[in-house]
Amino acid sequence: MQQDAIIIGGGFAGLSAAYILGRARRHVTIIDSGTPRNRFAAHSHGVLALDGKSGLEILADARRQLAAYPTVTFIEGEADSAEGVIDGFHVRVAGQDTMEARRLLLASGMEDRLPDIPGMKERWGRTVLHCPYCHGYEIGGGPLGVLATHPMSAHQAAVVADWGDVTLFTNAMPEPDEAARSLLERRNVNLQAGAVSAIESGADEMLSVHLATGRIFEVKALFVGPDLHIRGSIAKSLGCQLEETPAGKIIATDAVKATSVAGVYAAGDIARAFGNITLSSADGVMAGLGVHQSLMFAGAHP
Ligand SMILES: Cc1cc2nc3c(=O)[nH]c(=O)nc-3n(C[C@H](O)[C@H](O)[C@H](O)COP(=O)(O)OP(=O)(O)OC[C@H]3O[C@@H](n4cnc5c(N)ncnc54)[C@H](O)[C@@H]3O)c2cc1C
Repeated sequence: MQQDAIIIGGGFAGLSAAYILGRARRHVTIIDSGTPRNRFAAHSHGVLALDGKSGLEILADARRQLAAYPTVTFIEGEADSAEGVIDGFHVRVAGQDTMEARRLLLASGMEDRLPDIPGMKERWGRTVLHCPYCHGYEIGGGPLGVLATHPMSAHQAAVVADWGDVTLFTNAMPEPDEAARSLLERRNVNLQAGAVSAIESGADEMLSVHLATGRIFEVKALFVGPDLHIRGSIAKSLGCQLEETPAGKIIATDAVKATSVAGVYAAGDIARAFGNITLSSADGVMAGLGVHQSLMFAGAHP
C-alpha cells in the first residue's frame, strides 16, 4: 500500500515528525537502522524534563508511544536507496519489498569523523566530547583540553573555558591568528602547539594527552569538533541541494523543512548546523507539519 510518507531515520527528528503525521491519521512508515548520533553517551542532558536520561531510552519510549497509533509502521533496517518524484517515491531496504510513498522525509542524521589519534574513538561520548552544553556540567571543573580540528576551534576553546581551565592543543592545525590569540588570552586559555600522538587513561580517572615531543598533559576531558558528514547517499542521489555551514555540509531546507526536491523534506542534524536533541525534535515537528500540509494542499509547498 502506498504510504503518505516514509521517514528515513527514526532518531529524534524522525520520530518527532512521526507523532505529527500519526496523530493526523496519515499512513507513515519509519525506517530506522538504530544508530543515533549520541549512542556513545550514557546520558543525555539539557532535554526538557528528561535531563540525564539516555538517548537510546528516550527513543525507545517514543517508539513505544508511537506504536499505539494504527497508521504508524516501523521497519528496522537501513534504507539503501530512494528514487521517484512527488506522489510516487520508491524506497528500498535490503531484504524487504520496495516501499512507496507520496512524500519522503530524510532524518538520517550525521556521522562524526574523529581525528585519527590512537585512544580517541573508544573514549568518544565519555571523556572525549563534542559539546560543553551537553556534558560540561558533569565534569565539575578542573583541567580540560580542546583539540583543534578546524578554524573555529579557538572559539570552541574560549567557550569551553566557562567549564574549567582549558588548554587548546593545536595539533595539525595552523597556530591561531592574532585575533584568536587575544580572545584565548582574555578567556585564560593556554595554547599548546605540536602534534598530539595519543590519548590514554591516566591516574585518578584523568586523561593523558601525549604530544609527539614526549610531553604529557593531564585533563579531565578533551573536547573536539569532529568532521561532520551527511550519512549515506540518498540525499545526493535524489538531487537535494546542499548548504555549506561552519559545521559542514547540510541539506538546504526552507521554513517548513522542504528540500529543493519537490516532495522531499529533511529534518534534524542532517538539515541544521549545530543541532541537539531539542533542536532536532523541533525540526521534526516542523517537517511533520510541512509534509502534512503539503499532502492536504498539494502544490502549496514544493
Ligand atoms: C557523543 C554525543 C553526545 C551527545 N549528547 C547530547 C546531549 O546530551 N544532549 C543533546 O541535546 N544532544 C546531544 N547530542 C547531539 C544529538 O545526539 C543529535 O543532535 C541528535 O541525535 C540528532 O538527531 P537526529 O534525529 O537528527 O539524528 P540521529 O539521532 O543521529 O538519528 C538518525 C537515525 O537515522 C538512522 N539512519 C541513518 N541512516 C539510515 C538509513 N539509510 N536508513 C534507515 N535509518 C538510518 C540512524 O540509525 C539513527 O537512528 C550528542 C551528540 C553526540 C555525538
